[in-house]
Amino acid sequence: MHHNFLFDLDQTLLDFHASEYIGLKQVITANGCEFSDEVYHYFKARNKELWLELEKGTISRPELFETRFRLVFGKCGADTSGMDLLKINDDFITEMSKNGVLMDGSLEFLGKLKENVEGARIHIVSNGATRNAVGRIRSTGMDRYLDEIFISESIGRTKPSADFFEFVMDKTGDPKDSYIVIGDSLTSDMLGAKNASLKSVWFMPQGDVAKAVKEYDIDYCASSYGELYDVLCGWGRSRIV
Ligand SMILES: [Mg+2]
Repeated sequence: MHHNFLFDLDQTLLDFHASEYIGLKQVITANGCEFSDEVYHYFKARNKELWLELEKGTISRPELFETRFRLVFGKCGADTSGMDLLKINDDFITEMSKNGVLMDGSLEFLGKLKENVEGARIHIVSNGATRNAVGRIRSTGMDRYLDEIFISESIGRTKPSADFFEFVMDKTGDPKDSYIVIGDSLTSDMLGAKNASLKSVWFMPQGDVAKAVKEYDIDYCASSYGELYDVLCGWGRSRIV
């Protein structure tokens, strides 16, 4: 009997922001500018605004990639007129993908789960760019514990759509009650589990937890890898009757 654990990636197992920080530092200094936390926060703020523009359809992806680096190099006082900003964006993604950063204790947790839960199958379910996600996973050695990796860019479906999870179940071929979704995001992970009628664990809950649990039909919460391990073992045992 399989127990299929569907793990979100970023801020559940890997620290996306830490890799982004490393990637940005590399490309800023490689292009002769000085990097600081102020530069990083400026980049984050402009990037967020640009992603909202992209979602509204007012800019394209290449425009977003160019503009975020035009702005951040402008902030550093560089003359961006001769810069190949799309190439810099590509270098940034490459640097990120080489520099995955584990959340504290996540690798040990996955190892323990894989070793101690008979029939455990560990899959990644993540929204994002494939090269970036898979590169970061491999750079940490986490892939040794993984069975399958599902990234929205590759499979053409995005969390929280039920379609995303139906694709995953189709590919892995087990009964529906053998799947449980684990993630930090209410709007992609917990809503996705609800949409696909799957069990869910909200990792690192915050804010009005009781309200969110009700709204998203969340089955379990866990505030540490220790708690998460106990929740997942308990769920596994409950299926063997
Ligand atoms: Mg996440």
